[in-house]
Amino acid sequence: MSYYLAPSLKQLRDEIDAAHPGRDKKSDGWVGDLSHSARKSDHNPAWDAGGVVRAIDVDISDIDVNKLMAVLKNDSRVNYFIYNHSIYGASQFTKRRYTGSNPHTQHIHVSIKHSKSAERSGAWGYSGGSVKPVASKPKPKPAKSNRPTDYKDLTVDGVFGSATAEAVQILMSQIGLYERAIDGDAGKYTWEAVQEWLNGLGYYHRAVDGDFGYHSVIALQQFLAKKGHLDTKKWLIDGKFGKETIKAFQKYLNQQNGGK
Ligand SMILES: [Zn+2]
Repeated sequence: MSYYLAPSLKQLRDEIDAAHPGRDKKSDGWVGDLSHSARKSDHNPAWDAGGVVRAIDVDISDIDVNKLMAVLKNDSRVNYFIYNHSIYGASQFTKRRYTGSNPHTQHIHVSIKHSKSAERSGAWGYSGGSVKPVASKPKPKPAKSNRPTDYKDLTVDGVFGSATAEAVQILMSQIGLYERAIDGDAGKYTWEAVQEWLNGLGYYHRAVDGDFGYHSVIALQQFLAKKGHLDTKKWLIDGKFGKETIKAFQKYLNQQNGGK
């Protein structure tokens, strides 16, 4: 099953991005690591509700955190938020001391309510309404007949050819991050989706710009190593998209193919 960020939170993030172009996103994040979902968290996809992720973390370095908190307190979609040792929730967003392991001094955590209406997009008012609401479509677009929704297992050969590129595009579209042509020709939008995905997993902290360079490859390599596909005793995490990295990516893609 695929997972996706609640449209309401996607819009909140878009508004924050629009108000602070190029803001520091080091402590941003949204989806938890899918294989470590033991801990109950709104960052884990709610599979019983179609795979929605109901929380985001926003880096506070370059944003107006007081304005954001005022916006959150004013919106009935919000369940609670955590910032600077404090959790704000329940009635009237009363402030209580937060004693979890992460003090939340680098980011603000926002959780929405567990309801369909809380997932809906609609202006938050953070950026003064200059951002167009994102279309309210909680699920990835239904596949058109000419749009493959599954890929064949790849030959693990370390060559990033059209079959591998197509598998990446299909996986990203299953996750809901890629909506363009599945043509086996990985360009800017494909790599943007991969960056966004690694960002959500907490491995990539830079601009989602489709330019899959050194830092993007490092993030991918770290992820693949964590998943056991890249043996770091033999291969360096070096930011080079070489044969062993591609092989590891192909293994991961094969594992994801109908594996979940
Ligand atoms: Zn969080």
